[in-house]
Amino acid sequence: MTLAHGRPYLAIPGPSVMPDRVLQAMHRPAPNIYEGALEEMVDGMIPDLKGVARTGGRVAIYVANGHGAWEAALANIALEGARVLMPATGRFGHGWAGVARGLGIGVEMIDFGRAAPIDPARVEAALRADLAAGGAPITAVMASHVDTSTSILNDIKALRAAMDRAGHPALLMVDCIASLGCDRFEMDEWGVDVMVAASQKGLMVPPGLSFVFYSEKAEAVRAKVPRVSLYWDWTPRGQPDAFYQYFGGTAPTHHLYGLRESLDMLAEEGLENVWARHRTLARSIWAAAEVWGQGGPLTLNVADPALRSSAVTALGLGGRNGLRLRKWCERHAGVTLGIGLGMDTPEDPKSEGFFRIGHMGHLNPHMILGLLGSLQAGFTALDIPFGSGGLDAAISVISNASQEENVAPAQDAGCCI
Ligand SMILES: *Cc1c(COP(=O)(O)O)cnc(C)c1O
Repeated sequence: MTLAHGRPYLAIPGPSVMPDRVLQAMHRPAPNIYEGALEEMVDGMIPDLKGVARTGGRVAIYVANGHGAWEAALANIALEGARVLMPATGRFGHGWAGVARGLGIGVEMIDFGRAAPIDPARVEAALRADLAAGGAPITAVMASHVDTSTSILNDIKALRAAMDRAGHPALLMVDCIASLGCDRFEMDEWGVDVMVAASQKGLMVPPGLSFVFYSEKAEAVRAKVPRVSLYWDWTPRGQPDAFYQYFGGTAPTHHLYGLRESLDMLAEEGLENVWARHRTLARSIWAAAEVWGQGGPLTLNVADPALRSSAVTALGLGGRNGLRLRKWCERHAGVTLGIGLGMDTPEDPKSEGFFRIGHMGHLNPHMILGLLGSLQAGFTALDIPFGSGGLDAAISVISNASQEENVAPAQDAGCCI
């Protein structure tokens, strides 16, 4: 028997749950792509996108997933033979580094492992050593704001400070694909030069659009690169003379309708409130997991709550229990959990002892409490021991948060700064 018939809940770290408003906005015939309403809509969307990124810089839109934005960002700032520094905190750092190597760009890797954040002091030392070596300096430091495999949240402001202390000219390039619209991110205030994001996570739109935001300093670096592939070049996309240049060809019409709606929804709620909602929902998950872990094998991958992302949580259960729990939840509760990623060991080559909860985007307490209740039912059905009181702990986080005032009035969307 299965009880899963009902509205399914995809609790993976992207694609995220899409609001009906976004889906309905997309359900329409294709528009005129040469002139008129679509063009006006896109022109009007650019300031709102920059508002979500908290930047007064420029944005280039790509009809691509996050991997496309990874390549686009690199293709604009470096050619074969250049070097970048990658302080990696999980699989996604290694993924972006792989794209750099594919372009012939040398990668200096500092690997912080599977559960630790970037240590800015080590980045500072590497940059000082780079300057002391006297050759052409490293072009960019590349970092994940949130690494979706480990669920580590990196302190980007501290990373910038380390670069400044070293007096190194490198660009700071940040992957916010998991974090944008979930964890607080301040592109200009934190001194980020290039930021990449994608549509299917905090922006609640189907996969297929990605974004590269870039600063004046990054534009100056781009200007010195003698050859950039026409398709990846951010210049015509960020400063188009003709509408088709925004997208390097036909506009991704329906994704754009979805994105317009999601930007409206973020503005109506207020970006500060969006971050606070994600933080509270994440804290409720952690509260349950900590109590469950006191009487069983469940562990939170990141021990320090200050280093955990509000968008995704990686958890361990040992054995093949991550896989068993995912299968149970999908089959019996209509909840699909994320797979363990990058946690493989010789005993567990497919990371089956791990799972992840995506909690990004269009979520509220009844969804998260339903998810947590389903997890507990799964533990029980599968004979996985757990400490009692986890659900109560999660409920307390949510009821306590409801006593607080909204941190910012809605409409103060943080858009159009
Ligand atoms: C999802 C994700 C990616 C990859 O995005 P795709 O759309 O799958 O290419 C890259 N980095 C981070 C941090 C992500 O969360």
